[in-house]
Amino acid sequence: MSDLVEEYQLDYFRENGFSRSECVSCGDHFWSRDPDRETCGEPPCETYDFIGDPGFDEELTLGETREAFLSFFEEQGHERIEPYPVAANRWRDDVLLTQASIYDFQPLVTSGETPPPANPLTVSQPCIRMQDIDNVGKTGRHTMAFEMMAHHAFNAREEAGDEYAYSGEVYWKDQTVAYCDQLLTEMGADPEGITYIEDPWVGGGNAGPAIEVIYKGLELATLVFMSLEQDPDGEYELKDGNTYSEMDTYVVDTGYGLERWTWMSQGTPTVYEAVYPEAIAFLKENAGIELDDDEADLVRRASTLAGAMDIDEAEDMETARGDIAAELGVPVDELRDLMEPLETIYAVADHCRTMAYMFGDGIVPSNVGTGYLARMVLRRTKRLVDEVGVDAPLDELVDMQAERLDYENRDTTSGTPTPTSRFRWRRSSNCTTPTASSRIRSRKSPPKKEPRCPCPTTSTRWWRPATAATGRRRRRPTTRPTASPICPRRISCSTKT
Ligand SMILES: [Zn+2]
Repeated sequence: MSDLVEEYQLDYFRENGFSRSECVSCGDHFWSRDPDRETCGEPPCETYDFIGDPGFDEELTLGETREAFLSFFEEQGHERIEPYPVAANRWRDDVLLTQASIYDFQPLVTSGETPPPANPLTVSQPCIRMQDIDNVGKTGRHTMAFEMMAHHAFNAREEAGDEYAYSGEVYWKDQTVAYCDQLLTEMGADPEGITYIEDPWVGGGNAGPAIEVIYKGLELATLVFMSLEQDPDGEYELKDGNTYSEMDTYVVDTGYGLERWTWMSQGTPTVYEAVYPEAIAFLKENAGIELDDDEADLVRRASTLAGAMDIDEAEDMETARGDIAAELGVPVDELRDLMEPLETIYAVADHCRTMAYMFGDGIVPSNVGTGYLARMVLRRTKRLVDEVGVDAPLDELVDMQAERLDYENRDTTSGTPTPTSRFRWRRSSNCTTPTASSRIRSRKSPPKKEPRCPCPTTSTRWWRPATAATGRRRRRPTTRPTASPICPRRISCSTKT
C-alpha cells in the first residue's frame, strides 16, 4: 500500500452520503456529498468563492471566531488550554519558532513519555511560519503570523498496556471528521460545498493519513492522523520515498486557521482586511492610498483570483499576475500598479503582528537564533514601510497589532505615548473605530518605556520616529552606538533601522 488509500474509507463518509472522486484538474482524490462535483475545490483548481459572499451565517471578528471554535470543542468534552510561546526553542532543540499547535506536544507527549495537559484538548496556538514570507500580502490568504486553532487527542494501542503516559483510544479519524463537519455546518456552511481532500502527511520522521478541508475555494483546516514512524522495514511507502510502520501511539493533530475562518465569515477581499481592519485602514490612509470606485471594483475582482499568486504553485509571480490581468481584461501594468502598494500594506500589517508575537514572548532582536529571525522581520518591515511611504513609528504599529492578540502574557503595549512623541495617529474621516492612540491611552498599563537598544553599553534609541508633519524619512540614531568588541549584541545596535 503506497498512498494510504484504505485509510480514508471512513464509516462517517459512508454513513453520510459522501462519495470519492478524482479532481479533473489536479488529480487529487476527495470526498464530497455532491456526487457530480468534478474538482477538489482548492485553488488553482477553483477560485475564492466567498469574496463578497461570506460562507458562514454570521460575520465574526478574530476574537469571536476563536471563541466560537474553542467553546464548540469544550461542549464536545475537550479541555481548553492556554497557548504556548511562539519561541518553541524553549522546550525543544530541533526548531526555533512554533509553527503548529502540535509543536506544543513534541517530542515527549507525542511519543508517549509524558502525559498531555488534557486529553482531548483544544487550543488556539499563535504560530509563525517564515517560509511563507514571499506569499504574504500577495495571495490574500497567507500570513506569517497566525493562530492555529486545534483539537488534539492522544491515543495508545490497547496492547501496549501501560507502557505509555496515556492509554486507550480517545477518538480517531471518524470522530475527527465528524467534529469538523458539524462545526462547519453549525457555522452555516453548505454541507454540499465542503470537500475533504486526501493528502497524506509526512514530517520529522512521522507520517500518517491527512485530510484537507476545503470550502468555497479556501482550505479551512487540515486533519492529520499521526500514526506512522520512519522504519526501513516498514510496510508503508510514502511520498517522500521512505518507508514507515505503525506506532503504538497515534495522535489526532488538527489545524484550523483562525484567520481564514474569520475571513470566510466576512468575505472581505483579503484575509488581512478581515483580521486587522484597523491596521489596514490606518496604513492605507497613512500611505495615501485611495481607490476610486472602479479601482476598488478591480481590486475586489482581482482578489477572487489571487489564490493563483502562490509562489509554491505558480511558475513565477509575474506570470501569475499576467494571467490574472488577462482574465480581468486589464493591462498587467495597471493591475500591478494598483495591487503592489496594497500587497505591501498587507505584508506590513502581518509582519507587525509577527513582531508583536515575538517581542511579546520575550524574543529580543539579535544575531542568533530566534533573535536573528526577529531582526530579519524588523528590517524587512522597515524596508516595506519605506517602500510604500508609510510614515509611522514601527513600535506603535507593533503595539497596534499586539492589542488584537488578547493574551495576558502577550502585553507588548507599553501604555501612554510620552509627550515628547512627535508622532500622532492620523484618523481616517470615515473610520468609526477608536484610534490606536486613544485605545493605547485608555489602557491601564504601566507608563510607556522608550524602546531602547538591548545592548547594555549604549542608551541610544534603536528606532527613531520621523516627523509626521513633514513626512521626512527616519534617520539613523544621531548617537552612534558605542558597543565594545565584547558586546554580545552589537549587531542590533548598528542595525540600519
Ligand atoms: Zn484539484
